[in-house]
Amino acid sequence: MLATPPGFQSLAVPIAHDAPRAFVFRGGELLVREPDLALPGAAAMKALDLPAVQVFPVGVYEKEYCCTAWVAKDVAAPAGHAFRSLRSLFGRFDDRLLSVAGRAFQVADWGRNHRFCGACGKPMAPVMGERAMRCECGHVAYPRIAPAMMVLVKRGDAILLARNVAVAPGGRMSALAGFLEAGESVEEAIHREVHEEVGLFVKDLRYFASQSWPFPGSLMIAFTAEYAGGEIRVDPAEIAEAHWFGPGEALPDLPPAQSISRALIDANLPGR
Ligand SMILES: [Zn+2]
Repeated sequence: MLATPPGFQSLAVPIAHDAPRAFVFRGGELLVREPDLALPGAAAMKALDLPAVQVFPVGVYEKEYCCTAWVAKDVAAPAGHAFRSLRSLFGRFDDRLLSVAGRAFQVADWGRNHRFCGACGKPMAPVMGERAMRCECGHVAYPRIAPAMMVLVKRGDAILLARNVAVAPGGRMSALAGFLEAGESVEEAIHREVHEEVGLFVKDLRYFASQSWPFPGSLMIAFTAEYAGGEIRVDPAEIAEAHWFGPGEALPDLPPAQSISRALIDANLPGR
């Protein structure tokens, strides 16, 4: 499961640095050196020649200053480098570095999306010492973090796994998940989503853990819940199939090891 590495220190003030650890994003793609997937060095950064307004401080990791930047969609990778989707680096990047990259992506994506004020349309400027952008009209924008709930429903020794409509038949199944609506508590979102997605009622919600998930700026808040009634009736707009998996039954393809969904399932395997 991804987590902020021990010793990482967040920074909202940029540091002048000749060779920072630079996370450069083109949309959801990270710039890496080929073929060893190292972050770009000083020569590659010089070739990109990024304007300061596109560069943001991230923090200090392993005593090295980390910054992040966004580039336009039509920017080509410097020689010997390539833009790789952050998702494709799961399992290929060290998990601690992947966690810092996920944080960097959220900062870069926020910077790119807040160049202009959402209230009046004028250019925004970073607030020194804060992770914030401010407009002369007074509007302040902070990185948007969208809370989402995840719940593994249990019935006796069995667990409920579902396949999203976006996943091909026979593909990955997982716990239920969904974004919170404005005005809702996490618990209310769990009851609503479980009933909307699979037609069931649940009780005895138990907090499991939370995880920052950078696709795009989610905070996944995971629970287990006990079955309390109803028959499985999937919402075909969201869920292709949902089944109970009991002890001894073969499990389907599960989410990657870096995800909280996998940690939630592994901690609650049928019959355990
Ligand atoms: Zn404004």
